[in-house]
Order: sequence, then structure tokens, then C-alpha cells
Amino acid sequence: MTATTGRRLLLVHAHPDDESINNGATMARYAAEGAHVTLVTCTLGEGGEVIPPELAHLTADREDALGAHRIGELTRAMAELGVGDFRFLGGPGRYRDSGMMGVPDNDVPGCFWRADVDEAADRLAAVVREVRPQVLVTYDEDGGYGHPDHIQAHRVAMRAYELAADPAHRPDLGPAWRIAKVYWNRVPRSVIERGLAETAEKAPFPGVAQAADIPGVVADELVTTVLDGTAYTDRKAAAMAAHATQITVDGAFFALSNDLGQPLLATEYYQLARGRAGSRLPEEDLFAGSDAGATADGPEDPAATPEEPAR
Ligand SMILES: [Zn+2]
Repeated sequence: MTATTGRRLLLVHAHPDDESINNGATMARYAAEGAHVTLVTCTLGEGGEVIPPELAHLTADREDALGAHRIGELTRAMAELGVGDFRFLGGPGRYRDSGMMGVPDNDVPGCFWRADVDEAADRLAAVVREVRPQVLVTYDEDGGYGHPDHIQAHRVAMRAYELAADPAHRPDLGPAWRIAKVYWNRVPRSVIERGLAETAEKAPFPGVAQAADIPGVVADELVTTVLDGTAYTDRKAAAMAAHATQITVDGAFFALSNDLGQPLLATEYYQLARGRAGSRLPEEDLFAGSDAGATADGPEDPAATPEEPAR
């Protein structure tokens, strides 16, 4: 996809599949509209479970071949979303999946959870200075739901945001670049509660997820930005389905390896964490008010852009 608008969007995620679940419609929409979309994934997701029985041999406790397989899945997902620029932080396999919080994988040397934040952020700052995005999307400080790799992705992304903007940091990486706006992935509580009720009624899965299982759920009023991706529902569903070891998609619903259904949301939600909001809240465009925004800058309104938003 050729970038034609001067808009550049960078997304930082922990594992292959997180981007399609959280931002698939957003990525497809901006790519289709001519933005340059860059995905940086921090691990290969080597520690994931595997849904299709015929691929069960790939897991870490058997062949430990899931990472390489998931590169292929991510590649197919990005083709569905029209995103050509996707990378692994430090190169494929540089940081290993740390597993869920509290498991022995958290302590394996080389896992992302044990990575030095400044060192990993330096690698990401190099991408920021190269790509010069106006918008960065990542998780909140809890990683959305407490997964070590998601927490670490947040820390590394926020540190890279600082380092890239600091002229004293690594002048060899190119001129300093201040990302205009940083967003955290969100799901409004009312939206997920409605979606889960509908899932319970209509979805084909044996059980239904609970709101507490869904990453990034917050009170509705914390959501600053609503990205209507309904025109790209099919693209998002196809991208999610490409991650076949991780996700089962069925119509407007999907399940992870726990087989608990949840709604496939084509409207995606964000909370502005750094930078200045566009003139109207909720924003309908991640670039609103940035240099690359289509809408005029809004008035300075500190209340709309807290430096450390409450959760
Ligand atoms: Zn993940």
C-alpha cells in the first residue's frame, strides 16, 4: 500500500494477533486511506497455546516451533489489512514470549519481560526516528490486562516516545522526532457488556468471556476516540482468522484458545495518553489536531489531554 497522505501511524504490540484483535479495522482503514501504517511486534508469541489439533505439535513444550509459524500468520494477516510495513523489535526472535504472569517463562533469559527497557526502547526509538509517525498506539501501563509482555510493550513504547524526541539521545539515529499523539487501546465498558450479552445469545462457542477477561476495558467516559472501522469488518475478521493457531472467528464473534466467545468489534476505541486532542470529543480520527490531521487544531484544553489519565 503506497502512502499518499503524509499520515504515519505506528502500532506497538506484544504478540502476533494482538494487532488484529485490537486495531485490525483501524489499520485497514488508515492503510486504505493512504496512511503509512507501521506495526512493531515485540515477540513471536512462542508461548501461545495452539487451537487446531493438527498444529498442536508446534507448542513450546513439544517442538517449540510456534514462533516461526506465527510469523507466517502475521504475514497473512497484514496482507488482509493492506499493511506492508511490519517488523519485530530487534528482529524476529530477539525477544521471547514471557508467558502469562507468574509462570516460569517469566524468568527465561531472553524473554521480553526480562529485557532492559532502555535497551529495547532504543531499538524502537530507531524505528520512530526512521518512520516519524504522528500517532503511536500501544497499551496502558497494565498492558490492558496484566500480561507481562503487554506491560513491557507499554513501557518500551512510552520510553521510546521520550527517547526519540530527545536530541541528546543517539544523534546517529537521525533528527529527534516528537510523536504528536499517543493512544492506549480501550474498550468502553458499556460496549463490551452489550457485546457479551449478544454473544451469550447468538455465538456458537461453548462459553462466553467476561468483561474482566477483555483487555483495556474502562469506564466509557475515559474513551477519547472512537474509530469507526465498520467498512473494514471483513478485513479485520480475515486478519484475525489468519492467526489460526490463536483465534477462531465465527461471524461477528470470535474465541481464543479458551473457547469463550466474545464480540468482534469493528469500531475500535482509544484513550489519548499524550498530546493534544482534536477540537471535538470523542475524536473520530487518531490524527485529529496533529500536523497531519484533517481537522483544525482544537483549543488548548488540558482537561481533555491528561498527562497521566486515570484508569
Ligand atoms: Zn498478546
